[in-house]
Amino acid sequence: RAKEDGRNNFQFFEPEMNFRANRIFGMERDLHNALANGEFELHYQPQADLTSGRACGAEALIRWNHPERGRVSPAEFIPVAEETGQIVAMGEWVLRTACAQLAYWRKNGMAVFPVAVNLSIRQLLQPSLVDLVREVLAENNLAPVDLELEITEGIMMGDAKAALEFLSTMHEMGVQLSIDDFGTGYSSLNYLKNLPVDKLKVDQSFVRDIEIDSSDAAIVRSIISLGHRLDLRVIAEGVETLAELDFLRMRGCDEIQGYYFSRPLPADEFERFIHSNPRLA
Ligand code: C2E
Ligand code: MG
Ligand code: MG
Ligand code: MG
Repeated sequence: RAKEDGRNNFQFFEPEMNFRANRIFGMERDLHNALANGEFELHYQPQADLTSGRACGAEALIRWNHPERGRVSPAEFIPVAEETGQIVAMGEWVLRTACAQLAYWRKNGMAVFPVAVNLSIRQLLQPSLVDLVREVLAENNLAPVDLELEITEGIMMGDAKAALEFLSTMHEMGVQLSIDDFGTGYSSLNYLKNLPVDKLKVDQSFVRDIEIDSSDAAIVRSIISLGHRLDLRVIAEGVETLAELDFLRMRGCDEIQGYYFSRPLPADEFERFIHSNPRLA
């Protein structure tokens, strides 16, 4: 009986596993072509300072314009790229493109603020990443403070020593470091005191229901005071409404990022947005 069940289960699962494998394999091939064919693009989402109400930064977010499937979400292809290791080459492209774009904006008298780039664990564990960062900054005549690297709490789940070493080197150089999706990982408090970071990014899942969910409101307030007690700046992600903005402003949050200020924009639209000198209400 048990044996039979086992066989049935096997037969039941096999097609699904094949489906998954084919999907990943198909995407791996497509991702490989995407880099070569220039199908990736960066969008830039403005961040606003809550004291001045002005733009104070930008996060570079990758976009994939697939020739047949159209725009594919990073939520779908970043995990595959991490699994296959392609995130390393992709991440290098992101870093080079974002820094070249910032250098271009600088030359044209705009964007005095840094650009933030997302780093995945896989990338961070490449010993060559330190040299790559140095090279890209030098190539573009940028100072280390012009670059911000976003990491997640998850980086301490793998080779914590190597991760810490990389972060310390970046910190000593003057590159800004922030913890993305803060509050969603497992290791926040234990590692936070040892991480040489500058900024916490409150995950958007806590911001979404800030007005109706008293637990979320309490969590956000706690993250803001925790951050400030540790001398970190705090930015809230996913801010979509004036009510959310007001809540955050009243609780002393330093910056916001979200659709309320602006969606992530292609480079030319980002330029127009900054030129219009937007200010939060
Ligand atoms: P993330 O780094 O936390 O980026 C913020 C995500 O929230 C972006 O999704 C952004 O479009 C979205 N967002 C911003 N404001 C709002 C808002 O007001 N409401 C809502 N509902 N969403 C908002 P996106 O661009 O789809 O990226 C998803 C994730 O993919 C990123 O989360 C990041 O983890 C990853 N990712 C994106 N680009 C890169 C990259 O170049 N390298 C790596 N390693 N990961 C990337
Ligand atoms: Mg991010
Ligand atoms: Mg995030
Ligand atoms: Mg909401």
